[in-house]
This record gives sequence, structure tokens and C-alpha cells, in this order.
Amino acid sequence: MGRLRAILELPGKLFATAFWVGLESAKLSRQLLQKGEFDLSVSKDSLIHATALDSTVRCMAAVTTNLVDEACRRHKTFPTASAALGRTLTGTLLLGSTLKDLEKIIVQFHCNGMLGGIVAEADAHGNVRGYVNNPLAHVPVNGRGKLDVSAIVGDGMMHVTREAGFEIGLLKDSYRGSVPIVSGEISEDFAYYLTKSEQVPSAVSLGVFVEPEECRVIASGGFIVQVMPGADKSVVERLEESIQNTPHSTKMILNGDGPHQMLRTALGDLDFEVLEEREIRFQCRCSYERAVKIISALGREEVADMLNEDGGAEMICHFCSAVYNLDSAELQRILDED
Ligand code: ZN
Repeated sequence: MGRLRAILELPGKLFATAFWVGLESAKLSRQLLQKGEFDLSVSKDSLIHATALDSTVRCMAAVTTNLVDEACRRHKTFPTASAALGRTLTGTLLLGSTLKDLEKIIVQFHCNGMLGGIVAEADAHGNVRGYVNNPLAHVPVNGRGKLDVSAIVGDGMMHVTREAGFEIGLLKDSYRGSVPIVSGEISEDFAYYLTKSEQVPSAVSLGVFVEPEECRVIASGGFIVQVMPGADKSVVERLEESIQNTPHSTKMILNGDGPHQMLRTALGDLDFEVLEEREIRFQCRCSYERAVKIISALGREEVADMLNEDGGAEMICHFCSAVYNLDSAELQRILDED
């Protein structure tokens, strides 16, 4: 029996072995660097979602190199934490590829490993932001020479929340699905969530390639292929074969492939129709004005204490590590306006 069929029947075993997911070895990275076979400046972050075979196959792919690199630089993550954060940011963007207008999606890993947790949030306009609780989480590479993400994630739960219009008070039904963390390698966890909670058997490949010398993210991205109800069995078999033969996401991205080529490779000879392509970026919603609002909301007594004891206030955004300094004049203004 083929791999994808096995997954349809045994969602708990999702692609755990079908996909090698994650980082290439440090050695390969160095070799590539020496050969100059990639150039970060030419890669552009983008995401597509597509369908095939009368919509019985749904798929999305993204290159996220620049935005993951930015996230990791902002949060000063160590390499293993970078891989965990980057895979989650990419997976969240892929899950949110069909979001409309005011909708957004939030993915949270609550875990007991040294990473402590991961949060990522994406909206309908290609913006994503996120953080890990412990950016310094890092362990030596595993036996296969890969960053050992599961070792810093550990056990716990993965939560996915889809909501719409919350920020303008138009909260429609929000949806929250939760599954146990089955692998901690992130890709398998997304696949398990989609199959178990959303009932859509899915193959998920997410990868982050960290250049070992300077710890920069030089390739990041991934794809999801989903089999909808009514899909032909022979299609499932063809898909299974082509996906198994698909190189790892980071390898394709290092070769210069964009989302189209990644799907072309993953789907083999299946024709697909791209429904939408969107630019994606790391973008937080915090601002100085929001920081002032949050400080104001702490109450008069608290603000007066900050003014008298510290002569100002500092706010650091969890999602993007931006620092907002409110000086004494600003605090006085808050008190005067209160
Ligand atoms: Zn922020």
C-alpha cells in the first residue's frame, strides 16, 4: 500500500517517515556557500494556493526566506529555535492562504521542551508575525546532522485558532482546533492537525536552512498538498509517488525554485490551477500609539509610579521585539488626559 493511502487510513502516522523535513547538513551549506550557488537577494517571498483535478486536490506553497530571516534576527534566535520559529511561520502562512479580509489565523505550540512555546499569527494580506518563548533554545544537531527541533519542542499541544473581525468588534464564529504534539518537528504536527482536526488528509513539508557560520536563514519555505473528499484513488497513488520523490523544500529553494516550481515538482504530472499568488512578509501590528494605549490602560496609579520611580516606561513587543520608550513627558500627558 502506498504512503498517502496509509496516511488516509492512519492519520496518526502522517508522513512521519515520508518526509525528511528540516535542515540540510552544515557541510552541504558550507559547500554551497563556497560554490556561490545561491543568492539570497534574488529570492522573493511569496505564496500561492492552487487546486488540481476538479478541486479534489488542494495545495499551497511558499518561499519565506526573507521573512523568516527577519523574524530570527529580530528575536535573536539560536539556530534550532530559528528552525522551529521559521517552520511555524511558514506553516501558519500556508494554513492561512485562503483567508479573506478580516480573517486571521493563530497557531500556538504549548510545549514542555526548552523552547517553551511558539506563537505565529497570519492575516489575509500576507502579513505574519510570531515568536518563541525561549529564543536561545538550541541543542547539537541530531544523528542525521540536522537541527534537532523536536528536542527543544518536547511534548504538549498545538492549537489553531481561525477568527474574523475580532479587532473591529465584529467577531464571527471563531474556530479553535487542538491536537497533541505528535513529533515536535512541526511539519508532522501541522499534517496531524489538518488530518485529525480539520479532517483533510495532508502532506506537509516545512524547512529552514540556517547558514552555520553566521547563523543566517538562507532558505525557508514549504508546501502542503491536501486530498479532499471524492479524490480518485489512482490520483492518490500518483500523488504519493511524486511527493515521495520531491526534494526537501529547502533544497528546492536553494536551487532557486519558487512556489510554482515547488508545486510542479510535488504534484508530478498533475496539472494544477493557481487561484491566487500573494506577497508575504514579516509584519507586526504594534506601534508607538498602541504602546501608549497599553500603558494608559494600566491605570493612573501604575503610570504615576512609572513616572516617579523610573522617569519613563519601556515596552517590548513579544511578536517582533520592537522596543517603545515612553519618556516622562509622555507619561505626564497620559496622566493629564486621564
Ligand atoms: Zn510588534
